[in-house]
Amino acid sequence: MQKLDSNAANLGTVDTLIYNISMVTMSGDLHTDQPACAIAITNGKIAWIGDNTNEAHFPIAKVSYDGKGQLLTPGLIDCHTHLVYGGDRAAEFEQKLNGATYEEISLSGGGIVSTVSATRTLNEAELLAESEPRLESLLKEGITTVEIKSGYGLDTHNEIKMLRVARQLEEKYPVTIRTSFLGAHALPKEFKDKTEYIQYLIDEVLPAVQKEGLADAVDFFCEGIGFSRLECEKICQTAKQHKLAIKGHVEQLSNSGGASLVAEYNGLSVDHLEYLEKTDIPLLKAANVVAVLLPGAFYSLGETKMPPIDAMREHKLPMAIATDLNPGSSPIASLLNVMNLACVQFKMTPYEVLLGVTKNAAKALGMEDQIGQIKLGYDADLVLWPIKIPAQLCYGMNLVKPTMIFKAGVNVNG
Ligand SMILES: [Zn+2]
Repeated sequence: MQKLDSNAANLGTVDTLIYNISMVTMSGDLHTDQPACAIAITNGKIAWIGDNTNEAHFPIAKVSYDGKGQLLTPGLIDCHTHLVYGGDRAAEFEQKLNGATYEEISLSGGGIVSTVSATRTLNEAELLAESEPRLESLLKEGITTVEIKSGYGLDTHNEIKMLRVARQLEEKYPVTIRTSFLGAHALPKEFKDKTEYIQYLIDEVLPAVQKEGLADAVDFFCEGIGFSRLECEKICQTAKQHKLAIKGHVEQLSNSGGASLVAEYNGLSVDHLEYLEKTDIPLLKAANVVAVLLPGAFYSLGETKMPPIDAMREHKLPMAIATDLNPGSSPIASLLNVMNLACVQFKMTPYEVLLGVTKNAAKALGMEDQIGQIKLGYDADLVLWPIKIPAQLCYGMNLVKPTMIFKAGVNVNG
C-alpha cells in the first residue's frame, strides 16, 4: 500500500482536490485498494495523496470535488489501435456470412486493400472527420492515452497523412496520442515484391515521416500474409538508426519468429501472441518487452488458439490489453468491452486486466514513469467510477460509465 501523506502544509494552494474516494493505485505489487482517501492535483500532476478522515489535513484547493465514495483509477490507456482509417468493411463481413470465400472477397477488392483504397481517397480533413467518432467513443469510457498506427496509406503521402491526422486528434481532444509507423503492414498493390517495398519504406517513407517528427515508434506485421522475420529485421535496424522504439504484430496466425526479433532489438511490445512459443517468453522478459493481448481480434476472427497466458504469468511477463480497433479484424471502439473479453475468453482476472490497461499499457508505450498509476508526480489522468471494486469494470458490457474524467488534472467529463 502506498504510504498516505497527510502533511499538506508545504504544498501551498493546489489546483484541484478530490475527496471522499477510494482508489486502486496500480502502483504497488499488490495493487491494493486504498479506501477513504483524497487526492490533490497541481500543474496537471498528482501532488498529494492523503487520508479522507481528517479534513483539516487537506491542502487548500482552488476547486474541490466530492467523490461520494466512488472508485478512482488511473486514466485508461489503449496501447494498440488503428483508429485512423477510411471506409469500413461491413459489406465484406456480410459477404463472409453469406458464404463467400477469402478468394472471392479478395477478388471483389475486399480485405486490407479496400481499407487502403478508402484511406487514400480521403484528404486530411475527411480522414480526421471519419476517425473522430471512434476516438470519441474511447474517450467517453475514461481512456486518456491512445496509441494510433499508420499502415493504411502504404506510400509516403498517405502514411504521412494518417500520422498527421493522429497528431491532430491530440490537439483537438483531451488525450495523449502516441503514434507508430506501420508501413510494413501489407504489400500495396503497386508493388509486386516485398523486398523492394521494404527498401522503399527504409529509403523514402520512414525518413519523410521522421523529418516531420510524426512517429514515436515503428511497428511491423511479421506473418505469412505480412512480412518475413528477415524483412522485419530490416525495419528494426532502420528504426534503431532513427532512434525510434520498436513494436511488432507477431505470432498472430502462426509462429513466424517476430517475438524473438523484438526481444533481440529490445522493443517496447509484442502484440497478439496467439501462436507465441513458450520458449520465447524468458527472452521477452529478459529484454523488458510487454506482451500486448488483443482479445477483440481473437473474438472477431473466431480464433481458438489461446495465447500462452499461464506461461506468461509464471514468468511475470507484463501483460497489456488493447482494442486493436481496426475495420477488419477488430471493429470494436470500446476498451471496456475488450476488458470483458479478456476476462471471459482469456480467463484473465479483473486485476490483471486493469493492470493491462493502466500500468502495463503505459509500459508498452514507454510511458511507465509518467502515466498508468496513481502516484505522486505522475500525470493527473484519473477516472472516477460509480463502483466499489474493479471487477465491476470488466464483468459485463455497457453497465458502467465514468462519473468524472480528469486529463492532466482537468475535469473533461462535465
Ligand atoms: Zn494491430
